[in-house]
Amino acid sequence: MNTLPLNTAPASELRIEGLRASVAGNVILNGIDLVVRSGEVHAVMGPNGSGKSTLSHVIAGRPGYEVLGGTVTLDGVDLLSLPAWERSRAGLFLAMQYPTEVPGVSLEEVLYESLTAAGRPRDEVRERMVAEAGRIGFDERFLSRPLNVDLSGGEKKRNETLQLGVLQPKIAILDELDSGLDVDALRDVSRRIEQATGETGLGVLAITHYSRLLHELRPDFVHVLVKGRLVAEGGPELAVELEQTGYAQYIADDAANTVASAGSGLGRLDDPFADHLA
Ligand code: ADP
Ligand code: MG
Repeated sequence: MNTLPLNTAPASELRIEGLRASVAGNVILNGIDLVVRSGEVHAVMGPNGSGKSTLSHVIAGRPGYEVLGGTVTLDGVDLLSLPAWERSRAGLFLAMQYPTEVPGVSLEEVLYESLTAAGRPRDEVRERMVAEAGRIGFDERFLSRPLNVDLSGGEKKRNETLQLGVLQPKIAILDELDSGLDVDALRDVSRRIEQATGETGLGVLAITHYSRLLHELRPDFVHVLVKGRLVAEGGPELAVELEQTGYAQYIADDAANTVASAGSGLGRLDDPFADHLA
């Protein structure tokens, strides 16, 4: 929530301007403008296929996407010109919708290497992991296991949240953090993330098509993404409204204002909160 950091870390700012991007030759992001500052929680909501994961991947530098225009900076650093690991070193964290399984590499090794790469203190990684595990109810047995291998959806999300707690990024992008989480786990990870906004001034971009996350991780700002454009912005009340009305009005507006392209995928938008694969 919108509280000032308790420590003296300077405020950070993720600034997205005019971002356009394509994947496999299809333009998915059509000009995104969004600023996330320290301590703020922004929710980006939108129907399946609107480009939410594409937005998170393009910002974080996942290969396979082509940036067609626009800029993304973190405290003035041009993220788009950096490889993914340097974006991470600059203070960006991405919790992926589908966290990657990495056989043979443990969480502890990942965190140790991440802190090393960031030139940050790496002593007591184990102690910090254990402390973070306790805060989010993550079983310590998982700490030594290969990263994400054979973890349930909910355990993977706790795992991502644990990494966030140890790494203390400036800005975190959380892609469908609620997918696979039961109510208790959702509350645990949401509380931890909300605490980070106060304790270390974390700025959050929480991406979701499903408003239940926002009952736990309360946003300061809500943005609606439809077909690669932010079509509405508001406060927390917008999430409540969307819960009742769905995205239909925004899709109708969009259809009226743009020439519908063949295969636009509108047929998939009947049930905007359906929790199916996107
Ligand atoms: P969301 O996360 O909002 O559900 P995505 O960003 O995952 O949406 O996808 C947006 C659109 O881009 C969808 O139409 C999807 O099919 C398409 N898309 C995403 N990734 C790829 C890819 N690797 N190759 C081809 N099309 C893709
Ligand atoms: Mg997605």
